Amino acid sequence: MIIILFGAPGVGKGTQAAILAEKLGVAHLSTGDAFRKAIKNSTPIGLLAKGFVDAGALVPDDVVARIVEETLSDPSFSNGVILDGFPRTKPQAEALNELLDAKGLEIGKVVNICVDHATIAERLLLRGRADDSREVIDYRLNVYQQETEPLLQYYEDIGKIVSVDGLGSVEDVNSAILAAL
Ligand code: AMP
Repeated sequence: MIIILFGAPGVGKGTQAAILAEKLGVAHLSTGDAFRKAIKNSTPIGLLAKGFVDAGALVPDDVVARIVEETLSDPSFSNGVILDGFPRTKPQAEALNELLDAKGLEIGKVVNICVDHATIAERLLLRGRADDSREVIDYRLNVYQQETEPLLQYYEDIGKIVSVDGLGSVEDVNSAILAAL
């Protein structure tokens, strides 16, 4: 089971992905978490990614592909995975297709979690992560609109999108996602 949680930074992908992974008995891959861990441990990928993550810019696609490939090859992912924060660009979506093709797997659904941008900015400011300053938030939302949002159409065209209102409580949003799947 391969499920992609899609949506702008701050819509609750991470929270929902963790709950879904637990409920469905599959793994959870957050590329953001993977980068933060790599940065903390100063691994070669972490050193490459740091400047981009700090600035709220996208890490280059080839670096992202490396960390995703490495993670997905772990046996704990054989039951399926909730992808959180990946893919974020068209080349990443294509890289994912290749990776899944090679394993004989297919994307189940792409869950688009919808929250308006004013609410997102408020939530991110409250979260207070290192890359959650007002300036970096605005930049990340802009990057989302330019680079990532166009993927919605791509997944829509192949019939994979289900949309869910991300404004309710964590439990309500989770129930809505499960119902949509
Ligand atoms: P997130 O935790 O998903 O908000 O990601 C935090 C940061 O990690 C982003 O602002 C990017 O710098 C980087 N990042 C995470 N996932 C990706 C991805 N799929 N492509 C490029 N950069 C990413």
